[in-house]
Amino acid sequence: MDKPREEIRITNANVIDIRNGNIMTAMDILIADGKILALEKSPKIYSDNVELIDGSRKYVIPGLWDLHIHLRGGDSLISANRSLLPLYLAHGVTTVRDAGGDLTPSIMKWREAVRSGEIAGPYIFTSGPKLDGPDPTWEGSIEINSPEEVAAAVDSLESIGVDYVKTYDSRMSGDVYLSIIQETQKRGLKVTGHMPMTVSIDEAIDAGLDGIDHLYYVLKGTSSREEEINQAVISGEMGFWGAVRELLDSYEEEIATEFYKKLAENNVAVVPTLHIDDVLSYLHEEDHSGDEFLKYIPDELEATYQRRLRSALRRNEASIEFEEQMNLFFKDMVNDMYEAGVLLLAGSDAGAYNSFVYPGLSLHKELEAFQTSGLTPLQALQTSSLNGATFLEENAVFWRASSEADLILLNENPLDDVANTTSIFGVMQDGKYYSREDLDAILEAAITD
Ligand SMILES: [Zn+2]
Repeated sequence: MDKPREEIRITNANVIDIRNGNIMTAMDILIADGKILALEKSPKIYSDNVELIDGSRKYVIPGLWDLHIHLRGGDSLISANRSLLPLYLAHGVTTVRDAGGDLTPSIMKWREAVRSGEIAGPYIFTSGPKLDGPDPTWEGSIEINSPEEVAAAVDSLESIGVDYVKTYDSRMSGDVYLSIIQETQKRGLKVTGHMPMTVSIDEAIDAGLDGIDHLYYVLKGTSSREEEINQAVISGEMGFWGAVRELLDSYEEEIATEFYKKLAENNVAVVPTLHIDDVLSYLHEEDHSGDEFLKYIPDELEATYQRRLRSALRRNEASIEFEEQMNLFFKDMVNDMYEAGVLLLAGSDAGAYNSFVYPGLSLHKELEAFQTSGLTPLQALQTSSLNGATFLEENAVFWRASSEADLILLNENPLDDVANTTSIFGVMQDGKYYSREDLDAILEAAITD
């Protein structure tokens, strides 16, 4: 086989190995056919049939992954969702994990179109529809009423080619939930998401749970009274938020430490979704109506932001205080989980209905929230593409020859401050390079009014 011809050479760059934080200075990155051919020390002479990108004083990291977003909102929002895709790419997010919704046929088309270069957007991993219990909260979810229905539901997900399975907890029974875990494990599919408050989290982990989205459920494993609280939810004495309060009240450090160890040992990933929590906890005092980013959000999608805004503004003093307290507590939990070796994933929860969590930008905010929680800039960065690739068992850019050429050139060093991931000079996806000018043109075109 012929060696692929070198097409692009990023010259004289600072290449960051995000596995260990090493910075390789004065490096050239050779790219062809969408793959990285090699990394070499900058030579002085270049052949003239190669496109050169001057990487001097730039820092190169792998493209960012947002591991929890939603493409959703029904047929009337298909084009609005489609128009969000370039925003991810323009912010250096080259891969997203869609965590369930009601636009699966469109998503399947879009992800092909991204692969073929027809759409400028992130690669999409998707769960397809969520699995839920009777009377599901979200449109498009698959309703499961008994454990006997689980196999057929997972069959249907497999037949549409989902990448993993996402659970939701509107009114799902514990038996159904556990049998979803068993059914996915049998088939080698990953399962993550919400979980019913009626199930013991240890039981879910022992059944083979792969990941937990949102920290409310992690709280279950840190409580000295989980069993009692589960029973109160089963009997109907307590609802979801009542259970969260009680779990938080009964937090015990030794139990939490043991539990985090268990998560790490069982390779259970946790997606804390810290940024959305930062936004929602402070909606009563933070006015977002003048947010610059709103110009990119189509009006019909922005309209969906009202639902959470209204309910946030209805909260009383006590619940505002509780949410603020929980917000701070969650950051401590994240730091403790990191110390225990839990695989943490950066997911921002951007999508319709999730007020003022802006596609693309929100991933940077999520990384900043990890840093605020106590992770170093490197550790925060690792929660995105590195841990995402580990979780999804994907090959990604860690400077191995033949890994995909998805990378970002930054003006500032992200190892000094993870917020420097916003200082984007250029983005490369699948070997296609977008200069700052190209990215600005994408953003300009995305302005809706
Ligand atoms: Zn979500």
